[in-house]
Amino acid sequence: MTRRADFPLIFDHSVPGRIAVALPDADVPEVPIEEIVGRERLRREAAELPEVSELDLVRHYTRLSQRNYAIDVGFYPLGSCTMKYNPKVNEDAARLPGFARLHPNTPPELAQGALELLWRLEAMLCEISGMDAVTFQPSAGAHGEMTGLMLVRACLDDRGERRTRVIVPDSAHGTNPASAAMCGFEVVTVPSDARGNIDRAALRRVADGSVAALMLTNPNTLGLFEEHVVEVAEIIHGVGGLMYLDGANFNAVLGITRPGDQGFDVMHMNVHKTFSTPHGGGGPGAGPVAVKRALEPYLPTPTVERVGDRFVLQEDRPKSIGRVRAFNGNFGIYVRAYAYLRAYGPLLRQVSEAAVLNANYLLAKLRAHFDVPYDRTCMHEFVLSGRRQKQEHGVRTLDIAKRLLDYGYHAPTIYFPLIVDEAIMIEPAETESRQTLDAFAEALVQVAEECRTDPDLVRGAPHHTVVTRLDEVAAARKPNLRWRPKAEVGSRA
Ligand SMILES: *Cc1c(COP(=O)(O)O)cnc(C)c1O
Repeated sequence: MTRRADFPLIFDHSVPGRIAVALPDADVPEVPIEEIVGRERLRREAAELPEVSELDLVRHYTRLSQRNYAIDVGFYPLGSCTMKYNPKVNEDAARLPGFARLHPNTPPELAQGALELLWRLEAMLCEISGMDAVTFQPSAGAHGEMTGLMLVRACLDDRGERRTRVIVPDSAHGTNPASAAMCGFEVVTVPSDARGNIDRAALRRVADGSVAALMLTNPNTLGLFEEHVVEVAEIIHGVGGLMYLDGANFNAVLGITRPGDQGFDVMHMNVHKTFSTPHGGGGPGAGPVAVKRALEPYLPTPTVERVGDRFVLQEDRPKSIGRVRAFNGNFGIYVRAYAYLRAYGPLLRQVSEAAVLNANYLLAKLRAHFDVPYDRTCMHEFVLSGRRQKQEHGVRTLDIAKRLLDYGYHAPTIYFPLIVDEAIMIEPAETESRQTLDAFAEALVQVAEECRTDPDLVRGAPHHTVVTRLDEVAAARKPNLRWRPKAEVGSRA
């Protein structure tokens, strides 16, 4: 099945007694560990850890990384994820010892530079979004959604209003209804209209005094700008609800339009999407939440404030929802976002215009070969349908995605949004050249051609990857996360 035998686990390299580092003898008196942590906290059996040399360790992880796919390896058109290139200057900034080695418990007086960075980044994010204040605590977009809805709840409670429902369009990312449900709201789904906008007539029917908020994504997950967003905000505000923006698609509108001006009261940003910080398996993310003044009293504490020429952590916020995470979020990620904005801030409009142009360029090249269910000028991404290939040749979108791997590309997002049959969602991002887009379009057109001429080839893909088609259902239902002794490696569980 797999070629696991020729790719040993780190445990397979283990030799008892082998170590990667040797520390010099201590030049201070030794204190037994139990005197520090207490005997009851000591483990009774030694942890089962691999014992390897530094070289074994380096080779293992370097080889593992070479089996992986990343934006630094090739084109990564994963719709809704904004897999843009992460400029290396961001990494330089994040590695400055004053940032990288700063302990999170350093007293504010000794961490002025770090606090100033957050304070300045907050001002930048407010300017770009049209909002008034930011919390840096949430660790990702989904965590930001939850935080944002907790703010909505706190605000409504404070007004003495018992509103129970959150409206979510049917094109929304699954995290939206999940976040609303986690915060105890009842989720009401509203359909999309024929042009891919939220259906305003349906919205009007459900908008009443029980609505706490509408969660909207703009541009939405079809890659389309919500053409009536201002009217939609008026409908929700008209019944006393709040407007939440899922800011995952912010990369399409930077410097062009601001959510705060469109009527949104609260939003999250995915800095790992929009502001080029590492993403996916590549590292921790961050989902800062920006709010209008009305929601500011409820922000998690502490917030970073400026007092004279000093920066302080402000804990005194009586109506705060409290902490949603330790410290001030993933600080290293914010250093990268700050570096990106210092470098590209004045050019943000060009960033978005290039992202939109790249997407429309690809759409134009692919339109003849796939169905396009909502065929409008797109924003930074677009959604094709593999319906034709399924009906005419019995090839599914999953097969097409797998076949693209043989051509050396990461697959697009598939089967999302849910309202498109056999969805293929493509987002090129602004950092790709015309040559790369041409080559990708050529590969996808070639795959469409193969669906016609050799459907079995596509159905059996991938053929040239490290592992071939995996049993994803078994992997999800019966994950094998245990290390097995060498003798068993390669045999089936
Ligand atoms: C990525 C994404 C999210 C979730 O963000 P994470 O940072 O992955 O938690 C939510 N909504 C949309 C539309 C997204 O694309």
